[in-house]
Amino acid sequence: MAPKKILMIILDGLADRPVADLGNKTPLQVAERPNLNWFAENGMCGLMDPIAPGIRPGSDTSHLAILGYDPHKVYTGRGPFEAAGVGLSLEPGDVAFRCNFGTIDQEGLVRDRRAGRIREGTSEIASDLDGLAIEGADITFKEGTEHRAVLILRGKGLSPKVTDVDPHKVGVRYLKCQPLEPEASKTADIVNEFVEKSRKILENHDVNKKRLENGDLPANIIMPRGAGVYPHIQSLEEKFGLRSAVVGGVTLVKGICKVAGMDTIDVPGATGGLDTDMIAKGQAAIRALESYDLVFLNVKAGDICGHDGDADGKVKVVQRLDQMMSIIRKEIPDDVVMAVTSDHTTPVSIRDHTGDPVPLMIYGKDIRVDDVTSYDEMAVAKGSLGRIRGSDLMPILINLSNRAEKFGA
Ligand code: ZN
Ligand code: ZN
Repeated sequence: MAPKKILMIILDGLADRPVADLGNKTPLQVAERPNLNWFAENGMCGLMDPIAPGIRPGSDTSHLAILGYDPHKVYTGRGPFEAAGVGLSLEPGDVAFRCNFGTIDQEGLVRDRRAGRIREGTSEIASDLDGLAIEGADITFKEGTEHRAVLILRGKGLSPKVTDVDPHKVGVRYLKCQPLEPEASKTADIVNEFVEKSRKILENHDVNKKRLENGDLPANIIMPRGAGVYPHIQSLEEKFGLRSAVVGGVTLVKGICKVAGMDTIDVPGATGGLDTDMIAKGQAAIRALESYDLVFLNVKAGDICGHDGDADGKVKVVQRLDQMMSIIRKEIPDDVVMAVTSDHTTPVSIRDHTGDPVPLMIYGKDIRVDDVTSYDEMAVAKGSLGRIRGSDLMPILINLSNRAEKFGA
C-alpha cells in the first residue's frame, strides 16, 4: 500500500444555522460554491461533532480533537497555545494568558473587546509592556494578530487557577482576576497589577493618541484570559508518523499546530483576518504537499463574520473560499486525500460558537463516492460518513491514506 498524503482544510466557524434574512437558509446554502459542490459530488460527506454532540467547542479544543488528541486530557487553557503561536516558548512553571487589546470608558465599562479590531501599533504597545516590573514574576508580553496578545508570567509559586479579566461582553466592568484556589492568590495579584500598570501606560500612549485623532477606539486596556501551563503533547510524527506543516492562520491555530510538532509556513498576504489572501494560502498548501505528509490549512474569515453577526459577509466568504477550492481542484495531486470541514458552528444569529455538528467532506482518488452533490449543513447529513466525532477524523484519514496499522492478524 503506497501511503498517500493528507490535506486538511478547516473553514473556521463557517457552519451556521438557517438565517431569516437569507430565506431561512444558511450562508453556505445561499452562496455560489461550484467547487465545494464538485468535491462533495466526487467524494464522501457527513456531519461531524467536533468534540461530542451538543458540546460547544472552542477553536482550540476543537482543533486538538480534529488533529487526533483528546482535548479533555491535553488542554490546559488557551494561553499556552497563543504563546506558541507568537513564537514564545514556555518553561515548566510559567503561566500563559491569551489577552485582548480592548477599549473601556471612564467608568471602566468595556466598550469594545477588540479595540475596534486594532491592527496597527500593537507591537509598539507590546514592546512598552514587555518586561514591566512587577514583584513576584518576570513579565513577557507580545502582540498576536489584530487585537490578540499573549502574557507570560515566570516566577516561583505561580498557578493557572485564576479567573479571566475579560468579561467576554460589552457594557460591563472589566473583571478583577480572582484565585480559584488559595495558592493562586499571588498569581491573581500579579495579573491585577499588570492590568492596572498597563492601563496607565496605555492612557497616554502615542498609538492611542493617533487612534483618537483618527476617530478609532483606543486600546486602553489589556484583558487577560485563558490561563494555562505548557501542555505535554506527543507530536504528530510520534503519534502517526506524519511530517506535517500548517499554512498561515491566526496565532491560536498556529500555536496548536506548533505544539503538535508541525512546521509553520508563513504566506505573504495571509493575515488571519477578513482580508486574508485565500488564493495564496491554497497555493501554498498545494506546494507544501511536496515536502510534507500532512498539510493543515485553516481559514478564519467565516468565524469572524459569525461573531460579527454578518450573514451577507459570510456568504461572500463562502464564495471566496470556493475560489480557493477551484485552485485546489485544479492542482491537487493524485496521491492526496483531502478533508474539508469546520472546527465548530458560529451562527450569525448567535454571534458565538454553538454545539451544532459541522459539514465534513473527504475527497481523493480511489475513495468511495456517495450520492451527496452539495456541500452544506443539510445536504451532507445524507452522506456515507454519517455522523462522526472530531476525534474520529484523523483515524479515518490515516486509513484512507493507507497508513493505518492492522489491528489483529
Ligand atoms: Zn474556530
Ligand atoms: Zn470563533
